[in-house]
Amino acid sequence: MRRPIETEASVVTPAVSIGVALSGDGATPARLLHDADLAVYEAKALGSGAIEVCTDVLRRASDDRQSVEVELRDAIETDRLRLHFQPIVAAGDERPVSVEALVRWPEGLVPQRTPGDFVAVAERSDLIVQLDRWVIERTIAVLGESETPLGRMGAAASVNLSARHASTRPFAAPILESLDRHAVAPHRLVVELTESALLADVDHVVSQLRQLRDRGVRVAIDDFGTGYTSLSLLHRLPVDTLKLDRAMTAQLARPEVAAVVRLIVDTAHLIGMSVVAEGVETRRQADELVELGVDLLQGFLFAHPMPLADLPAMEPPVGAPRAT
Ligand code: C2E
Ligand code: MG
Ligand code: MG
Repeated sequence: MRRPIETEASVVTPAVSIGVALSGDGATPARLLHDADLAVYEAKALGSGAIEVCTDVLRRASDDRQSVEVELRDAIETDRLRLHFQPIVAAGDERPVSVEALVRWPEGLVPQRTPGDFVAVAERSDLIVQLDRWVIERTIAVLGESETPLGRMGAAASVNLSARHASTRPFAAPILESLDRHAVAPHRLVVELTESALLADVDHVVSQLRQLRDRGVRVAIDDFGTGYTSLSLLHRLPVDTLKLDRAMTAQLARPEVAAVVRLIVDTAHLIGMSVVAEGVETRRQADELVELGVDLLQGFLFAHPMPLADLPAMEPPVGAPRAT
């Protein structure tokens, strides 16, 4: 099946993934098809050319995903998801200048699930688009409310845009529409997406990001350093900020990692981008990152993600150089 097929225009090389279902006790045709489907999905996730056999482990994982999906869909529809905000501080004086909005499971809904778990489930389908949109809409609404810590100070907030959402949807228009509706200045919003989200369908994503940036919305690459973006490509991307992945912060003690961070920071500054370090947990890491020229810091050393009401006062981003 892998033999190349010649068409008029080109040569196509098919890839094959195989899911195997075993007929045992009580297997019905429907059950077998379902099992084969699960197994082939898993095989595809492993990359092309894999063969997977459906097991009880796969079945349990699938049932679990289904419960998460049902609960999450309901939580979005009934507006019961929650948002936490994690302050991001300036490297020099460590005053909070902005926040990142992070989604949280509904309070009291058992079992409590971590965003790592339910965001991953949402990302397997278009549910992630609904989740992202809920977070973006709520965050912009909060920025527009004058009596909250964020609204009062005119501070900025970052939101996360998942890869599936970024590469399959025209995402700029709904964001701009929401900013208009809540009368929020576009420079108060930062859209974070990962390298893989940016590069998945680079023409589409870049053109959407341009629309956002033309109006003043800022763009950050999340978890930078975990993907394959070459530094020489950066200047062609419509991006304002790099967020260094927390794995880099965690490994700063290794001289080669520190050298890479310095290279990233110097390159970013040369092309007018700012750099945020994520996952700052110790004073030593913070000092070293400042030494390396990082502009902004985010991590448990300064603050955990927290409910809106607990946020400290923020500095307005206007006039604050390189605020994110
Ligand atoms: P992320 O966008 O890289 O978010 C940062 C994550 O690092 C957050 O985890 C945050 O709580 C955690 N973090 C912050 N400081 C520290 C630290 O000092 N040490 C350590 N070990 N961790 C720290 P969280 O909230 O569990 O979110 C995990 C991931 O889930 C996020 O990574 C993001 O990819 C995704 N996510 C969270 N909220 C949303 C959302 O609203 N939409 C989408 N699409 N994805 C989201
Ligand atoms: Mg993020
Ligand atoms: Mg990150």
